Amino acid sequence: MFIFDIQIANYRNYGRVSLKLDRGLNLFVGDNAQGKSNFLEAIYLMSTLRSSRASNDADLVRRDLLQTEFPVARLSCEVERSAGNLELEVAIVGRTTDATHRAGKRVRVNGVPKRASDAVGQLAAVLFTTLDIDIVAGPPLMRRRYLDMMISQVDRGYLRAMQRYAKVLQQRNSLLKRVQGREASSAELNFWDQELAHSGGVIMQARADALGHVALQAGFQMDRLSDGQERIEVIYRPALGGLDANDSPIDETEWTARMLRALGMLRSREIAAGATLVGPHRDDVLIEINGMPSDSFASRAQQRTAALSLRLAEASYLRRALGDDPVVLLDDVLSELDARRRRGVLEFIDSFQQTIVTTADPDRIRDIMTRAAGRYLVSAGTITRFEGE
Ligand code: ATP
Ligand code: MG
Repeated sequence: MFIFDIQIANYRNYGRVSLKLDRGLNLFVGDNAQGKSNFLEAIYLMSTLRSSRASNDADLVRRDLLQTEFPVARLSCEVERSAGNLELEVAIVGRTTDATHRAGKRVRVNGVPKRASDAVGQLAAVLFTTLDIDIVAGPPLMRRRYLDMMISQVDRGYLRAMQRYAKVLQQRNSLLKRVQGREASSAELNFWDQELAHSGGVIMQARADALGHVALQAGFQMDRLSDGQERIEVIYRPALGGLDANDSPIDETEWTARMLRALGMLRSREIAAGATLVGPHRDDVLIEINGMPSDSFASRAQQRTAALSLRLAEASYLRRALGDDPVVLLDDVLSELDARRRRGVLEFIDSFQQTIVTTADPDRIRDIMTRAAGRYLVSAGTITRFEGE
């Protein structure tokens, strides 16, 4: 798929932007703090309905507007897809002075209002940023987020299971505390164990399945990018209190059964802790480079190459799951790569219908400048197309 038209209003540092985009490589050049990352964040937000960096929707609305009565940012785009063209509109309402306006997001898909969770992945996208190194070097949360953002774009059931799981987990944790304080009986846990293990099974099965593809692809990409010098292994580490060793269950029902067993085994410890100690909220993914855990042994450059390989693997996963290309977004990552790795990334990305690349340093990526189908200048929240160099 590819975006051929995009409109932005009052988003971050943007006033109004209206752009036509091309198939192929679109290059956005601009000095620091002009709006390059904001632009890609806007596109990624239309895909996932979640910001790639803000924790609060109100941050997304242009700051000068926040004091007004109805602060709202609007994003929309038109997309050509093999599954039929898409018109997507997202309105983000900031905190308002008038209590009758609710803060949050409103979404329309082809003109029809949708819940945000039903609009996720209508536009599929993969975003590369310089922070991706955290997938490899950061805490487990970063790896779970990598999986969640990827899988929820193509699997509505996964997103629903995640939402259900989060609710049940909260209920179960508060019950565990009440059991601990002898305000409730432990038999009450049985129901919540079933509920938790049911959504948990859906999530674990989907993660195991996605990682099967990702592990193969990341291995292939890592080999390519490093000229056969580096080997990466990506292994799912579900949190099942020791029942996670060796063999991996083959379907949801088995994952659910295994999680129920883990909950049974750990019950007294969970009551003592007042918290749920097993399940997908504690999952991790082990990433090894040349046989050693990447977070504590790998060099910075190895970690960066591994992160890049995982994003390329994500693009491949989305393509396979959708039968269509996701839009590939690269936020200032090319200029930090050496020429060989850059070539390796571009070679693969070239097979996707559309790539949107930002850079603050066009001199370092002259080769890309000359190949771009469209070139744009980002300056103080405005975007203008330019021809030539
Ligand atoms: P760099 O090259 O340093 O990565 P960039 O072009 O990617 O820069 P952005 O991250 O897109 O820059 O940010 C551009 C500007 O947007 C920043 O100066 C930031 O302060 C501003 N900004 C962020 N949120 C808002 C908002 N809600 N309202 C107004 N301005 C904002
Ligand atoms: Mg930036």
